Formats: sequence, C-alpha cells, structure tokens
Amino acid sequence: MIVHNLGEENSILNQFISEIRDSKVQKDAMRFRRNIERIGEVLGYEFSKELEYSPAMVETPLGSKEMKLNQDQLVICSILRAGLPLHQGLLNYFDTAENGFISAFRKHEGNEDNFEVIVKYFAAPSLEGKVLILTDPMLATGRTLENVLLALKEHGTPSAIHIISVIGSQQGIEYIDKIFPEYTHLWIAAVDLELNSRGYILPGIGDAGDLAFGEKL
Ligand code: URA
Repeated sequence: MIVHNLGEENSILNQFISEIRDSKVQKDAMRFRRNIERIGEVLGYEFSKELEYSPAMVETPLGSKEMKLNQDQLVICSILRAGLPLHQGLLNYFDTAENGFISAFRKHEGNEDNFEVIVKYFAAPSLEGKVLILTDPMLATGRTLENVLLALKEHGTPSAIHIISVIGSQQGIEYIDKIFPEYTHLWIAAVDLELNSRGYILPGIGDAGDLAFGEKL
C-alpha cells in the first residue's frame, strides 16, 4: 500500500484537522461536518494527481485548446454514517462519480472492549474496471475497511483502489496494509500513534459519527 500522509506538510489542511480535534470547536456540528467536507475536498484534489490523464480538445468561444483530462469512471463508497461529510467533500470535486454506501457498526460482545464489525446495508454499483474510492474518516483498527473490502468483492474488480481517511492509527494502517492489494493508495490527513481499549484513536477526535450527527442510543 502506498501511504500519503498529507498532514506531514504545512498547509491549510492542518487548520481543518486542528478544528475537528479541538474539544470546544468540534462541538459545533455544522462546522465539524463542513471541516470534514473540506478535508475531503483537499484529499480529493491530492488524490486526483494520481489518476490517469489523456488529451482532450475543448472548444472555447474563440478557438480550441488541448487539455489533459481524466476519463476514468470513479465510484465513491462510504461507510455510514460518519463517512457522509467526507463523501460530500469528494462529490464536490468529482461530478460524475458513482456512489456506494455501506453500513458497518461495532457490535460489542459482553466485555465492552471486545467488538465485531457488522456490515448490514450495502448498496453499490459494479466496480469492474472502475476507480474505487473508499472513504473511512477514522481508520482505527482497520477492521471496518477489511469487512467493507470483503463485501465489495462480489461487485467486481476495480482498476485502482484509493482509501481516503481523515485520521488513522499507526496500528490500523499496518493492519490494512496486509489486507489490501499492494497497488492501493491511502490518502490520509493525520496519523496518531495510539488506540484505546475500545478501539478509539488517541488523541484523535472522539466519535466522528456523533460529532457530525449527534449522539445515538
Ligand atoms: N471511530 C471514531 O469515530 N473515532 C475513533 O477514534 C475510532 C473510530
């Protein structure tokens, strides 16, 4: 897997990351969602540099100009519900992308620290020969992405796989590195070193789904 940790460079991206981390600023759910969306836009722009481009003529009112454009069919697949603002950020740039949605949740067994990832709702187009963009805002243990990859298998073989994530743990990145094909790219805005016993990233941001959409029962 090829990892692009974009938070390592100085850019406006780190302002957005600092705002979603900040325990006061992150309480504003509208700002939180918009920041995740903006992070999706930045990561999407960076990821677009890795696509293939071919010459295409564009007619202006005064002449014509050859430009290099991408012709690939993109499919953006997101995990409900925390992935939605990141999904929107990508859609803001990739107008003709197709969309897939997957519900994955952690089912805690007896001991609260023990959980299994359950995939239930799954709606995605064929992926055959297309560029698959998988979004997971919080790449914690990597087990959600593992289950999503399994669920997507029956939808065909994509020509390329790009994972877009906001914050990841070192452990989660190492875990998915073993599962995803070598040609997979990971575009990530920050990498934290630890996970707590409940699988939350430390220092991370807390629960991304709750921050974006409110607490659940
Ligand atoms: N999901 C979250 O929302 N936060 C984490 O830290 C890990 C998984």
